[in-house]
Amino acid sequence: MNGKVYLVGAGPGDPELLTLKAARILADADVILYDALVSKEVLALVPRNAQFIDVGKRAGKKLLTQEEINSLLVSYAEKNKIVVRLKGGDPLLFGRAGEEIEALRVAGVEFEIVPGITAAVGAAAGAKISLTDRRVASQVLLTTFSRGETGNWINWAAVTPETTIAIYMPGTHYGEVADRLAENGLSPETPCVVVSQATRAEQKVRWTNIAGLRSEAQLPAPSILLVGRVATQSVAEWGAGINPELLKNSEASAVRLNVQKKN
Ligand code: SAH
Repeated sequence: MNGKVYLVGAGPGDPELLTLKAARILADADVILYDALVSKEVLALVPRNAQFIDVGKRAGKKLLTQEEINSLLVSYAEKNKIVVRLKGGDPLLFGRAGEEIEALRVAGVEFEIVPGITAAVGAAAGAKISLTDRRVASQVLLTTFSRGETGNWINWAAVTPETTIAIYMPGTHYGEVADRLAENGLSPETPCVVVSQATRAEQKVRWTNIAGLRSEAQLPAPSILLVGRVATQSVAEWGAGINPELLKNSEASAVRLNVQKKN
């Protein structure tokens, strides 16, 4: 078998954020199976000599099941085709890549992964905030509530005031997201920012906090929610909340002094 499958990340939308490697592989592909999340600007960059197959969702309705997509990948590779499975953002994050990788392994198909810029990273750039700002953040959690009703999958004990949470697929009811965060111990004043269509021309950024999220109007999909002390434009807003533990460290104390000066 000479066929090969590439799981390729298309990035969050801005076509300039496609990697050189992704662009090269797309130009050489025989078949491209792409998702609804892949921006039309990225698709427009790809030469038209390949066969394009839309395997995405439309208004919540899947065009193809995951099993059908897996079989297509395998069967095109078995026909000696160069196949690209093109996914929004990074192909390995919240994109069912695990199932596809397993199907390719089981079938003995050669495959390679080409990473892309994930939505959380694109959104942070759009909002111009550092997800790991060392003054207020010690860890980043990439997660979603769309797996299970109650968010039970999340290990809330690991969520500290210094955690930045990126919530993929926040859905249409930000109020429910706010309730879930509040139920699990986050203070209503915790800053958060909704970034819609990050890195695209239509990008919108809404600054709020968990309490304010309830009355926030829904923005066009795709959108992502960044929650945590870093999710604000105002340093003064997080200055008061620095964890005393952090201040034991002299460097952090210096930071606190800086913050107070700015206040
Ligand atoms: N593999 C993708 C995520 C797929 S899940 C990645 O790494 O980014 C789909 C979710 O990603 C969307 O519901 C949305 O929450 C987020 N997303 C993808 N592209 C986005 C964009 N340009 N702006 C904001 N959120 C985006």
